[in-house]
Amino acid sequence: MHICTECGRVTEEDYDFCPHCGSIKGANVDPALIPPQFKVVSGSQGTFIVKQSAIRIKLALALALIPGIFNIFGLGHFALGKYIRGVLFLACSGFYYYERYIGYFGIGYWYLFGFSMAVLLVQILDVFNLIKKELGISG
Ligand SMILES: [Zn+2]
Repeated sequence: MHICTECGRVTEEDYDFCPHCGSIKGANVDPALIPPQFKVVSGSQGTFIVKQSAIRIKLALALALIPGIFNIFGLGHFALGKYIRGVLFLACSGFYYYERYIGYFGIGYWYLFGFSMAVLLVQILDVFNLIKKELGISG
């Protein structure tokens, strides 16, 4: 397996140069020797070596945003391993759907909508902050 240190692409065959960018910088590597924080990812642009945390961060953001639009909260926190906060946000989802379809507390539609938007915002900001901490960015 060849890893190009110039463009980061991976080729299964062993080359003296990178077939993607032509760089001669690179190394033929035994896949078993790749450190655990790196992962080989295949995409439309070819195969790349990606740092594990980058994958987790993208996953966490996608899980905070996409299900969040449908009022399913806390999944991004689960992806980051913050299970307690994830469960709390998920409980907000439970409350939202319970109230919307059962109407036990008699909360009006727009109040409920405001509540779900607020939770969505808070959980996305929280995921951003957790990611900043993980990347060591302060402020
Ligand atoms: Zn290359």
